[in-house]
Amino acid sequence: MQEFLKPPAPPTTPPLFEIRNTPTTGRAVFATTPIPSSTLIHTSTDLTLSVLLREYRREVCGQCFSYAHGREYSIRDLGVGFVFCALACQAEWREENGTLGVEAWTAVEGLVRRRAKEDCEMVDVDLPRPGVGDIERAWEGVVVQAALIRTARQGESDIMTGGVDTDAGVQVTKQHKRAMQNALQQPISPDVMSFCVSGLLWLHSSPEDLSQILALEADSTPYLNAPDLLAFTRSYLHLLAILPAALLLLLTPKNLFLLSTRDSHNAFGIRSLEDDGSEFFGYGCWPNASYFNHSCSPSVIKTRVGRVWEFRVARDMKEGEELCITYLSGEERAQCRRDRMGTLRGNWGFECGCVKCDEEEL
Ligand SMILES: [Zn+2]
Ligand SMILES: [Zn+2]
Repeated sequence: MQEFLKPPAPPTTPPLFEIRNTPTTGRAVFATTPIPSSTLIHTSTDLTLSVLLREYRREVCGQCFSYAHGREYSIRDLGVGFVFCALACQAEWREENGTLGVEAWTAVEGLVRRRAKEDCEMVDVDLPRPGVGDIERAWEGVVVQAALIRTARQGESDIMTGGVDTDAGVQVTKQHKRAMQNALQQPISPDVMSFCVSGLLWLHSSPEDLSQILALEADSTPYLNAPDLLAFTRSYLHLLAILPAALLLLLTPKNLFLLSTRDSHNAFGIRSLEDDGSEFFGYGCWPNASYFNHSCSPSVIKTRVGRVWEFRVARDMKEGEELCITYLSGEERAQCRRDRMGTLRGNWGFECGCVKCDEEEL
């Protein structure tokens, strides 16, 4: 474990902070020296997976997440379903995603566009979170269909490579094809598919960084409710049917669950930079930004600059003081103590014990 406790390289030396394990709040960040207000103490450039919600896909740059007050960007890459604020952003996006990424996003976009007229299912937000047993049963419930779809896909690639007549070739029957068609006819969840594709592409391109994700705090019941869990198991089958063959080995319930367990409490919202972040475009996971604990009166302010987070101290800090950010959005910060605590409990699963909440309790 020790290797995960090293602080990420700070912008100046000697380090301004250290990460220590605490008895009550897990890992936490502490100033190792007095730090003057507004000092930039850390930048996080390690975006792993990100989701740009479908409804913002034409208004938010797919690469730098810039937003022009709801105006649609004119550089459209409709094949992959993203728009860009500049040709440079489009080029960077294509470079980062690579041929395989472009192929994967094209496959997803093709499916989503064919089904664009579907109504989104309304979900009752008060439904209970599925427990560990519910989650296991849901994933076990798609094992047989997944195996049939894998065989159908294997058959396709045998035909492509001319291997169908050899002993190694698989027999694709009507049963396999039916499993694939059944999966594709199920309701689609574009944002869940984006989450899975973004995560799989990251696992594919950066296997050496897996330890960073594994080191994050895990949520063993990461699905919001039964429909959310169902969206994941269905998306798994959809993706098995359409993604490029090179991603199918990584496309497993184990990997998708792993990504959800780590994303659940560690993702940062990608919001508009103006209006106190009132527009919520999506979210992403930057592992080395996840060291900071929450406070309702944060000592560190985080600001997004494109795909990078910058962290600056909000006031003069003394040596040994804990450095905290807030997990709340602009509107949520203005809530009363009870509502703030409810938001934190619901979204991050903890009871806030920050100084502000302690004081306001009295
Ligand atoms: Zn851009
Ligand atoms: Zn608080």
